Amino acid sequence: MIIYKTIEGLKNSLYKAKTQGKKIGFVPTMGALHTGHLSLLEISKKENDLTLCSIFINPSQFNNQDDFIKYPITTENDILLLEKISTDILFLPSLEEMNTLKSHASFNLDGMDQILEGLHRPGHFQGVCEIVEKLLRIIHPDFLYLGEKDFQQCLVLKKLITILQLDTKIKICPILRSPSGLALSSRNQRLSETGLLHAANIFKVLSNIKTQLTTGNWQTLKETSIKNLLNNGFEKVDYLEMCDTDSLQILDEAPEKREVVILIAAFIEGVRLIDNIKTTANILTN
Ligand code: AMP
Repeated sequence: MIIYKTIEGLKNSLYKAKTQGKKIGFVPTMGALHTGHLSLLEISKKENDLTLCSIFINPSQFNNQDDFIKYPITTENDILLLEKISTDILFLPSLEEMNTLKSHASFNLDGMDQILEGLHRPGHFQGVCEIVEKLLRIIHPDFLYLGEKDFQQCLVLKKLITILQLDTKIKICPILRSPSGLALSSRNQRLSETGLLHAANIFKVLSNIKTQLTTGNWQTLKETSIKNLLNNGFEKVDYLEMCDTDSLQILDEAPEKREVVILIAAFIEGVRLIDNIKTTANILTN
């Protein structure tokens, strides 16, 4: 694996690869890598000639200073993991150099940045778009690999690519979970053993909703699910919503025969976790 810490070094190497007609897959991350990140890289490796991972903790997407300060940094281990799966390139830019690049003051995301995550983390998606625009303009990948765990982020970045009229295509990859069902996340590293056990309740709640959801019972299901989380280790639920999978419009009732996504953000031991599941309401048979 080749590690580039400067934009120029990376650009030169990619220029060569592109003139040789190589297809480039890109996986942006904030490091503290786990099997979820690696799964995106493995998919990219199968589909491209060259797979590039970036590690950059982007301050502008953290609305909470404490979350930023406590974000785990495990670069040495990340490099070992990336080498183990034969990643071609790691881009490790400095904050100073990334800050020298210009970016849009604000992106018109049609309100997608004002709901759910956007509502609870003001400025978060503008920050995400700012850094992803910079990375895409440096790398110009053929494919951008994103995890469905960050469901709303996938939709926001689809919009970004349309706004910027870039040729990059987005590939959305499935959520990797631990055997308990807990979605793998860098933030899980901050949880105690008990916290990790309790955190798996997010997936239990989502799975329960998936089996129980009918066209008429969403509001009660939502209330009992929130209570369930609060009675089982979670101290706060930012949101638990059922949404349209394309627009993310929040739905009051499950539509018939149409897939919806249930999204959760909740705090445990001061750590904010997100997860989601897609499902279709069961038809009631009396
Ligand atoms: P992050 O480092 O948290 O910014 O994540 C980098 C990429 O990895 C994003 O596209 C995430 O959606 C994806 N990702 C994070 N956790 C998982 C997971 N458990 N399964 C699949 N993809 C994930």
